[in-house]
Amino acid sequence: MAVISIGSEDRVFVLTGAGISAESGLPTFRAEDGLWAGNRIEDVCTPEAWERNPALVWEFYSARRAAGAKAEPNPGHVALAELEKRLGDRFFLCTQNVDDLHERAGSRRLVHMHGELNMAHCELDCGRAPVEDRAIYRDLEEVGRCVCGGRLRPHIVFFGEIPLEMERIQAEIKLASLMLVVGTSGSVYPAANFVHWARMGGARTVYVGPDAPLNASAFTNVVEGKAGEVMPGLFLVQ
Ligand code: NAD
Repeated sequence: MAVISIGSEDRVFVLTGAGISAESGLPTFRAEDGLWAGNRIEDVCTPEAWERNPALVWEFYSARRAAGAKAEPNPGHVALAELEKRLGDRFFLCTQNVDDLHERAGSRRLVHMHGELNMAHCELDCGRAPVEDRAIYRDLEEVGRCVCGGRLRPHIVFFGEIPLEMERIQAEIKLASLMLVVGTSGSVYPAANFVHWARMGGARTVYVGPDAPLNASAFTNVVEGKAGEVMPGLFLVQ
């Protein structure tokens, strides 16, 4: 069984993708056919989709909210929360996921680079902070408006938009001596580049997942298996 040894000087940067939530029952995004839960990304997850049909976009994210609320963290999420407890501020988690399963497992030092399912922000980008929004909308008329008048849209980084917290993410990657990447196909950028940035800084790089990602050759070690089965017991903290 694979073991990743973590020394007292190590700083760990973790990147997770849709695969870590697969065992919690949330479908991954299938890069091969561009489908997420049976929907074409161009129809539900782009600025053009929002312009064209905001009702359909809200219908899609309302369904994701309903599924997310029913899902529970799995042993993969729990293993990362436990690792954070051991390492404190030598641990940092960046997730591409928009679900809140990492938080519900106990992770605290984390950023959601692609946004959060249970938040909404103004479609006009008027500068006001995102607000908590857990509603399951059945009709576009139910969706609230910002004080500036813009309609609230899901707090999701659509394909083609700039991911969140990039400065902090880049700073944390520079500090890391170990990068662990879990359950991401290596097809969505800039996240797929993080492993290259970590390598440039001299970090060890480990991938965990059942299939080799597209950027597999950039990893010093690929641990094949499902996150929930492989991750408990994967870390040896010295
Ligand atoms: P992806 O769907 O492109 O790839 C998923 C990867 O997970 C695949 O490589 C697959 O082999 C792997 N995988 C499947 N089951 C696994 C398991 N049990 N353990 C570990 N790995 C497993 O995912 P991505 O690269 O994260 O890109 C998807 C994009 O879509 C992201 O931008 C994300 O925001 C969004 N998305 C989010 C969620 C979510 O929040 N749960 C779900 C679907 C898509």
